[in-house]
Parts: sequence; structure tokens; C-alpha cells
Amino acid sequence: MNTPDLNDAFTLRPIGRVRTPWRQLQDCPRGVRGLGEPAWLEIDPAFEDALLGIEQASHLHVLYWLHQAPRQTLRRPTPHDGVLRGVFATRSPQRPNPIGMAVAQRLRREGARLLVSGLDCLDGTPLIDIKPYLPQADCVPGATLAWQPAP
Ligand code: SAM
Repeated sequence: MNTPDLNDAFTLRPIGRVRTPWRQLQDCPRGVRGLGEPAWLEIDPAFEDALLGIEQASHLHVLYWLHQAPRQTLRRPTPHDGVLRGVFATRSPQRPNPIGMAVAQRLRREGARLLVSGLDCLDGTPLIDIKPYLPQADCVPGATLAWQPAP
């Protein structure tokens, strides 16, 4: 099989939608740490079988498509300190492929709907993937990010 060219485009099929209380960008939380607001992940019934075993994970990586974000932005000032940084060095929603990610706590399942807490996106944001958070692999004690203020 040929190696894809860097100019190739890929097709992502949403697996569902995120339902949150936030209808306007300015109402969304800016960070995802310690968020209490619950959100529903509404999975397309075509993918419900892919949820088998999801109850075994307390936390999930949730990947979503920040559909209202501009994709031309390459540098943005970081909100905390106003310093201009490349978007790959930040969590800005504005980036060439506006993929958002969060570690969400799994609260409840109702069929093809999962109630979670820890998301920061607009109501109706397309959902692109869910993976279990792996405590032994995904937690990096001592990891640092110099520009992020202390909690
Ligand atoms: N937690 C994700 C991450 O780290 O990849 C996103 C972080 S970004 C700083 C969160 C902000 O993206 C929100 O405060 C809101 O302003 C914006 N946002 C949320 N949902 C969006 C959407 N569907 N389209 C564009 N921007 C969105």
C-alpha cells in the first residue's frame, strides 16, 4: 500500500455528538480540570456495539471536532500570559486540524448515551472517538508545562 501524501485529506466520520450546557463559545469553560458540569456523549446507534466493556473504565479520553474553530491559525497568544506561541505548543481550539481532547469521568450509561463530566465544548460538537484512560500509561508523574499556572 502506498504511503499517504502529506497533501492527502482524510475523511473522519463522527461517531456521535457531545451534548453540553454551552450554546455559545464564550460560555464554554477554558480548561477541563475539575469540571463538574455533566455532559452526554450521544453515540450514533450504528456504533453502539463499540461501547461493549466501557463500564470497566472510570475515565475516558474523549476526542471531538471543534467544528467552529478557524483552521488557518498557526500562532496564538496563550490566554494565561499573552505570549505568542505555536498552536502545537498550546491547547488552542484554533489549529490546522481542530481536534479537541479531554479526560472525562464516566458517570452513567443509558444505551448508546454516556454521561460524563470534564468536557469543555459547545453543545452539538461532533464526537470523533472514545478510548479508555489507562492509569498506568497515561499518567506521567512529574510532567511539566512551563506556561501553565499552578493549580
Ligand atoms: N479540551 C480541548 C483540548 O484540550 O484539546 C479543547 C481546549 S480549548 C482551550 C476549549 C475552548 O474551545 C472552549 O473554551 C471554547 O472556547 C472552544 N470550543 C469549544 N467547543 C468548540 C467548538 N465546537 N468549535 C470551536 N471552538 C470550540
